[in-house]
Amino acid sequence: MGPYRFDQLEPELQTIALDDFTFQNWAKTFNCKPELLFTPTNESQVQKVILLAKSLNKPLKAFGSGHSPSDLACSPGFMINIDKMDRLLSVDVKNCTATVEAGMSLHKLHKVLRENGLALSNLGSISDQSIAGVMATATHGTGAHFGCLPTMILDLTLITADGSVLHCSPSENTEVFEAARCSLGALGIITRMTLQAEPDFRLEAIQKPYKFSDILNDWDTVIHSAEHARVWWYPHTDDCVVWRANRTTKPVLREGPSFFMENWYGFHAYQAMLNITRYSTYLIPYLTKMMFKTLHSAPVHVVDESNKVFNFDCLFPQYVNEWAVDWNEAPAVLRKLDKFINENDLKVHFPVEIRFVDEDDVWLSPAYGRKTCYIGVIMYRPYGKPVPYKKYWKAYEDIMREHNGRPHWAKAHGQTRKDLEASYEKFGDYLKVRQQLDPEGMFLNDYLKRHVVGTKQVAKL
Ligand SMILES: Cc1cc2nc3c(=O)[nH]c(=O)nc-3n(C[C@H](O)[C@H](O)[C@H](O)COP(=O)(O)OP(=O)(O)OC[C@H]3O[C@@H](n4cnc5c(N)ncnc54)[C@H](O)[C@@H]3O)c2cc1C
Repeated sequence: MGPYRFDQLEPELQTIALDDFTFQNWAKTFNCKPELLFTPTNESQVQKVILLAKSLNKPLKAFGSGHSPSDLACSPGFMINIDKMDRLLSVDVKNCTATVEAGMSLHKLHKVLRENGLALSNLGSISDQSIAGVMATATHGTGAHFGCLPTMILDLTLITADGSVLHCSPSENTEVFEAARCSLGALGIITRMTLQAEPDFRLEAIQKPYKFSDILNDWDTVIHSAEHARVWWYPHTDDCVVWRANRTTKPVLREGPSFFMENWYGFHAYQAMLNITRYSTYLIPYLTKMMFKTLHSAPVHVVDESNKVFNFDCLFPQYVNEWAVDWNEAPAVLRKLDKFINENDLKVHFPVEIRFVDEDDVWLSPAYGRKTCYIGVIMYRPYGKPVPYKKYWKAYEDIMREHNGRPHWAKAHGQTRKDLEASYEKFGDYLKVRQQLDPEGMFLNDYLKRHVVGTKQVAKL
């Protein structure tokens, strides 16, 4: 069957459809041109879109804000985006819970929670994503006693491939709930969620430089040194910074040299230097050392509303790779990575970002059943001449595999269905739920076929 045209749609669907749309992810590393994009404003329109896709045997893929650095949200068939479904539906201030439409962005969620004296207990680096999107990939922040974001979901509503509306919670459609907390977008369209929050709070964050070898030798202390601790290691050096944040009632404060990057000149000067290193890669370690001195000549001290302290500017488009390992394994992983970089004369950009997540019971969470350390590597991704990063990625992924690592679902990686089945106890249960809910594979795309159902080959790095 050929492409379905806009003028063949019934009038109501024409009001929410676009036929000239190209999807591109945030880092501009993946794109696709669907036949039609639908932007429904309510659940009944979502059902109609699903039933149309079913009747035409078209794939249908949801995307949120397109922040996944992979083709996880891409589809050449129909696409659907529920950004217009972003209302606060109810709030229970006493129990610190809120029910929201799942197209709401995290930025808006912070605002509506704050209006009710509430806040999320933990967050990742940014809040541009949609709620459905962050949950679908088990997005995480950092904190030894804080699980990934899907651990905050108390219930959710899913519209499945036959148009059924399923309310799921620990006591209703239990298996679907467990699979859908981190759904990878493969089970249907998630339209609403009830989330556990806590009373609104401020965070006090202090960021200080350390010798990385000292941090690795005192790992457990670092993990537990604050409610939320994060390490940024500068490869090619024995330098790192540790960011520690704790709840506080102190007044708002911002002090320290790393605001250099928030200033227009600092940002552009750094980007210009990165561009010079594209042609003279031997300069990368010198640039790393210079930036370390510039940014960390003194501690950084911030007190502010929690989401402002959890989030920061991720600056430039980048190639990223991030896997999760048992946090006790992380020092061995990082020493091997350091050795590989040095022995192979690789020139890699900073930082390597190291975060901690408590173990959880979300079936496909990379922190399922084990206290987890996420280790994220990045390379600057300029326009024009690409920077070579595949040798770095291959070494990184090989080391992660030796330590039973699990890749972040949102990020491009090289794990096959067989690898993932071996590292997730509940992978088979997730696949069973997926098969029951979507036997024709309406919500599958190339990423899911490669890595999850295993009907396509995973490319070698
Ligand atoms: C600059 C930057 C910083 C980041 N920081 C972090 C971080 O600190 N921690 C971390 O863990 N990750 C981080 N990420 C990754 C990011 O949180 C995830 O990629 C997240 O999934 C993006 O959400 P999104 O709304 O953009 O979803 P998209 O990327 O658009 O989609 C992601 C998945 O969600 C599915 N989906 C979207 N909407 C629906 C819906 N309504 N129903 C069902 N499925 C749906 C899609 O089909 C897809 O499978 C970062 C990414 C970037 C680019």
